[in-house]
Amino acid sequence: MARYIGPVCRLCRREGMKLFLKGERCYTEKCAIEKRNFAPGQHGKTRKSKPKTAGYGVQLREKQKVKRTYGVLEDQFRGYFEQAERTRGITGETLLQLLERRLDNVAYRLGFATSRPQARQLVRHGHFTVNGRKVDIPSFSVKPGDVVAIRQSSRTNASIAHALDEVKGRGVPAWLQYDAEGMSAKVGSIPTREQINLPVQEQLIVELYSR
Ligand code: SF4
Repeated sequence: MARYIGPVCRLCRREGMKLFLKGERCYTEKCAIEKRNFAPGQHGKTRKSKPKTAGYGVQLREKQKVKRTYGVLEDQFRGYFEQAERTRGITGETLLQLLERRLDNVAYRLGFATSRPQARQLVRHGHFTVNGRKVDIPSFSVKPGDVVAIRQSSRTNASIAHALDEVKGRGVPAWLQYDAEGMSAKVGSIPTREQINLPVQEQLIVELYSR
C-alpha cells in the first residue's frame, strides 16, 4: 500500500497541530509547530488567522488530521469509513476504532516505536508477531484476544530498544494488556473513544462523507 513520503512537519503545520510523526523531535523545541506555527507555503502566514467553525473546510481539515495521523491515504481511508458505516454503532467512533486497531498503531501505542511512521517500517520489516505468527502488514487489524509480540530474533533490535527507552513514561492504553518482560501485549478489548487519545471531532468526518 502506498504511503506519503513528503516532508511530514509540513502536514502538522497545515493542520495547525502536532501529529507526532517524527518521534522524539516532536517533543523538543525543534518541532516545526513550536518554531513556525503557521500554514506552509508562500501565503501560509497571511492565511486567515481566525479558523472557520463550520462547513466543508472544517470537515475536510478534521478528516485530513485523522488520515495524516495514522498515515493512511485517501482510498484506504475511505475504505475504513465504508467499513465503519456498515458496522453497527456510531460511525465516527467505529472509524477511529478501526484505525486504532491497525498493527502499526498498536506497535506505536505499546512504545515499540517512537512514531507511527517508524512503527509502520518496523512492521514492514517483520519484527512483530500476532498470535505467534510473523505479520508484516501495517494495516493488519488486531482483535480482542490477539497477542502482539516482538519476534524473538528482534528483541535486541537497536531501534526498538531505543524506542522502549525513549517512551517508557508515555504509558500504554488500558485496552492493551502489556507484558514488559515478554515484550508482548494482549488485546483486551476494542478501544473506547476515551481511550483513543486524539483531539478530533470525528462526527465532522461523517458529515463530510455524507455530503
Ligand atoms: Fe509534527 Fe513532529 Fe514535525 Fe513537530 S516535529 S511538526 S509534531 S512531525
